[in-house]
Amino acid sequence: MADCNQQCSSCSSAEECQDKEKVARTVRNTSGIKHVIGIVGGKGGVGKSIVTSLLAIQARKLGLETAVLDADITGPSIPKIFGIHAYAQTEDESLLPHVAQNGTKVMSLNLLLEHETDPVFWRGPVISGVVKQFWEDTRWGNVDYMFVDMPPGTGDVPLTVFQSLPLEGILVVSTPQSLVSMIVEKAINMATKMDIPVLGMIENMRYLVCPDCGKEIPLFGTDDSIDATPLPVLERIPLDPKLAAACDTGTLATLDVPYLAQTAKALCGKMQ
Ligand code: ADP
Repeated sequence: MADCNQQCSSCSSAEECQDKEKVARTVRNTSGIKHVIGIVGGKGGVGKSIVTSLLAIQARKLGLETAVLDADITGPSIPKIFGIHAYAQTEDESLLPHVAQNGTKVMSLNLLLEHETDPVFWRGPVISGVVKQFWEDTRWGNVDYMFVDMPPGTGDVPLTVFQSLPLEGILVVSTPQSLVSMIVEKAINMATKMDIPVLGMIENMRYLVCPDCGKEIPLFGTDDSIDATPLPVLERIPLDPKLAAACDTGTLATLDVPYLAQTAKALCGKMQ
């Protein structure tokens, strides 16, 4: 499969190829997916899952077919954010994505666990194998934009997941802390190694708006290192208690907020 272009009919190695069947299945199940964007967070808890979900929700509002592949295997929060608590269904050996109320297709390990609180003790290669299976064995159908909630960090696990998906670009999510410049550099290095464009950064939780006086309170101080990053900051999302509550109740898709609407429009417009 080293130089596989998934064109078995014109491949000189097709006869003896062990992966022919797999290629056929991959092509069948993923040929309707037009664009795949990875959402990366330097560390856990910065808002990677909420950003992934908001992008899918806002792109959907633009009339696009959207999907979320939850590759954050050890902390899969996407189903909860979309209010999905059901098992994934199967058909002819394919997994079927769950379609959230707003029409976004979702696949996550939590849709396959008996209890959504079950822990997962897997190492990197197993995790990336599962992500690959989500990509290949899920009958995604037509998808204009798939957003992938990547495993946190910039180590071995996200690296292997990076290699198993045809990512067109990545977005980096970060909070405005001094750790940021280091994390951003790591993310850029990782993406550069794999020839994946870094599309920009989403800065999350920069400030909280005081409900009494409307003043913006910078939660993490006024560290300017984020402003010095070479990446364009595409949008800044405040810490908004409505967002946290909507994630907890699985109602983010019906929450009327402007966050990431512009970014979704710009991204999807640019890539089409
Ligand atoms: P990650 O995927 O990076 O681990 P999450 O997206 O799961 O982070 O966010 C962690 C927690 O912080 C969640 O409970 C989420 O609802 C909350 N959260 C993230 N961003 C915001 C925000 N801008 N305003 C309010 N709550 C937020």
